Amino acid sequence: MNAQPAAFIDRDGTINIEVHDLNRVEQLQLIPRAGEAIARLNQAGYPVIVITNQSAIARGLLTETGLAAIHRELKRQLSAYNASINAIYHCPHHPDGKDNCTCRKPAPGMILRAASEHNIDLAGSIMIGDNATDLEAGWNAGCRAALVRTGSGENALAEINRQTRDRISYIGNDLFDVIEELINAHSNDRRPLHSNAK
Ligand SMILES: [Zn+2]
Repeated sequence: MNAQPAAFIDRDGTINIEVHDLNRVEQLQLIPRAGEAIARLNQAGYPVIVITNQSAIARGLLTETGLAAIHRELKRQLSAYNASINAIYHCPHHPDGKDNCTCRKPAPGMILRAASEHNIDLAGSIMIGDNATDLEAGWNAGCRAALVRTGSGENALAEINRQTRDRISYIGNDLFDVIEELINAHSNDRRPLHSNAK
């Protein structure tokens, strides 16, 4: 099977509303139209892979079990929109680098691991998020990158320099806008979204 392009998507501030140290299922709330956006990717045949930094685990505010429950809730809420996620990768490590990890964004470790485990074509893929670290992680992995204005996106946009801004493939009001642009760009090209015939 040929490698296929995927959408790598940040979680907090991109799919669900940013909550400081989200560690309870009840705090999880989808951003408007995020469910519809992911359903569109599903229909277009893109694997949807969530890439999330969860240092709350290293900091003792959240357990792996607690995170798994939050991710079950995320999938449950998305299912109301017929939307599904193919995989979720999280970095549980400290933000200050003392764990010496290679997965915390902006490092590309989670994306690279996902690509190898799901046979993803990185050059054809995109990382979508609301922080400069999401963009950098995508670029560091050899993907394109897109920025949403939800979550920290508006601030991120104000802080990045012109050169960085020019590297961004799509800037949208929210995940739905970015995915519309992504899918329309592909259909205008009349290129198949993924070239494999399973
Ligand atoms: Zn890590």
